[in-house]
Amino acid sequence: MVIDGRNIAKSIREKVKSEIFEKNYHPKLAILVAGNDEASLIYANTKIKACANVGIDAYTYFFTNDEEDKFLKKLDELNTDDSIHGIMIEMPLPKSYDAQRIYDLINPIKDVDCISTYNMGRLFSGNPLYLPCTPYAILTILKSLDVEYTGKHAVVVGRSNILGKPVAKLMLDLDMTVTQCHSKTLNLEEYTKTADVLVLAVGRRNLVGGQMVKKGTIVIDAGINEYNGEIYGDCDFQSVESLCSYITPVPGGVGPVTTSIVLSNTLEAYKNVIKNSNGK
Ligand code: NDP
Repeated sequence: MVIDGRNIAKSIREKVKSEIFEKNYHPKLAILVAGNDEASLIYANTKIKACANVGIDAYTYFFTNDEEDKFLKKLDELNTDDSIHGIMIEMPLPKSYDAQRIYDLINPIKDVDCISTYNMGRLFSGNPLYLPCTPYAILTILKSLDVEYTGKHAVVVGRSNILGKPVAKLMLDLDMTVTQCHSKTLNLEEYTKTADVLVLAVGRRNLVGGQMVKKGTIVIDAGINEYNGEIYGDCDFQSVESLCSYITPVPGGVGPVTTSIVLSNTLEAYKNVIKNSNGK
């Protein structure tokens, strides 16, 4: 069955919107975009539109490759401005920026994508302030299915800090046995074939074909690959779909759910910042 990510996204959005309107909340999200990565601009625009639909004010700040100092100054302002509740940095940052240092400078209470070392530490030690948006979207999709995950085998392909590693941690929290694969994994197929849940987080079109998955598997494809003006995931959807019990399409799977999670995390951040400033 093909999972309708847009439908899951819609129900999250509606919940966020009704809470914001019923409680007369005014959440504000700041999005920082640096460099001229086209995809980053598209993702920032998608977030701005989604925010507007649910009553979140979104502000975008643009910087060139050689404006790291300006970027840091703005980040510092946003960190201490009580009227801003969430901060997101579009990735990738330009190579000329010290990305890790920047992530670690985000005020943890506003770090809605959980990218600072502090928030990742909290996540991995079992006391998260926020769950990172795309991994949380994957978890939300899995939880929307009527499936018992305890004891199942999850194979996560990809091990980045923003995606693969936190996804594996969330799969562990579902009491699955987790295998993490990456570019140095020998014979990827040996692992993917044994997956009850296969999460693809690589960024390579057609990495996984039908011969690499077992019948009845659940495939969550987070990959985004542009080819000839179309967007594809990491699996060869045509050959994989008929074997799966569930599969997310690309587009229309993990992506829209991620955008809705940005909204729900911003709402959480709003509540945390307000609580924090009331306690001062
Ligand atoms: P990274 O480039 O940071 O990480 C890619 C990972 O894939 C690395 O761990 C790398 O291994 C691994 N890898 C590369 N080649 C292979 C291979 N041949 N076999 C197995 N593993 C391989 O990417 P991200 O984690 O940031 O993103 C991954 C994908 O997810 C991208 O397509 C991105 O666009 C998409 N994405 C989607 C989002 C959504 O909302 N749907 C949000 C964020 C990202 P190694 O560590 O050894 O280099």
